[in-house]
Amino acid sequence: MLEGLKKEVCAANRALVKHKLVILTFGNVSGIDRKAGLIAIKPSGTAYERLKPEQIVLADLKGKVVEGELKPSVDLATHLELYKAWPEIRGICHTHSPYATAFAQAEKPIPCLGTTHADEFHGEIPVTRPLTAKEMESDYEANTGRVIVDQFRLTNPEDMMAVLVAKHGPFVWGKSPLEAVTNSLLLEEIARLAFRTMTINPQAGPLGKELLDKHYLRKHGPQASYGQPKK
Ligand SMILES: [Zn+2]
Repeated sequence: MLEGLKKEVCAANRALVKHKLVILTFGNVSGIDRKAGLIAIKPSGTAYERLKPEQIVLADLKGKVVEGELKPSVDLATHLELYKAWPEIRGICHTHSPYATAFAQAEKPIPCLGTTHADEFHGEIPVTRPLTAKEMESDYEANTGRVIVDQFRLTNPEDMMAVLVAKHGPFVWGKSPLEAVTNSLLLEEIARLAFRTMTINPQAGPLGKELLDKHYLRKHGPQASYGQPKK
């Protein structure tokens, strides 16, 4: 079932290794077929080097496995909350990439300090509130997803495709599983740049609104002018 989606999700997971966003079996990428109402996700604790499309697990929106021999990633319930809340997204990527995770652990948003950041993300990358003891006790992974969705109640997830879960790490999404991985790579790069900028000058301030809008909107949204015209 859904061979194309499983191939796409397998390739996206393997790309995490190529981009040096994961070590060992950390991290996971999923994708959704909205028509079928099914999610394809990496199996839990599987080495990326040997990952094959047939090992990708298919689950429904309630988290019930409908195809696959292996257990799905433990973070499936987090992915499900985001897919249910945001019909516009088609891929989700979770890593513990070091610079973005360092900001998450410090519970500090990644400030938008330059145009490299503004080209890809419309402003600072938000951090969620910490989970309460009760939220950790049961349904921990689903509650992680709910806390992310709550963080975005005033933000369009298409305008900000990344979040830092406090004390944990980044969750990033996109219009495809591979786009979610690309956005994760961009997030790690801007986190690294922000860290270095703040090391050189701890007082470095965020970009003004004009420059932020100029750079973000020329690459994203209806008025985008970056790249070659679509034929
Ligand atoms: Zn994690």
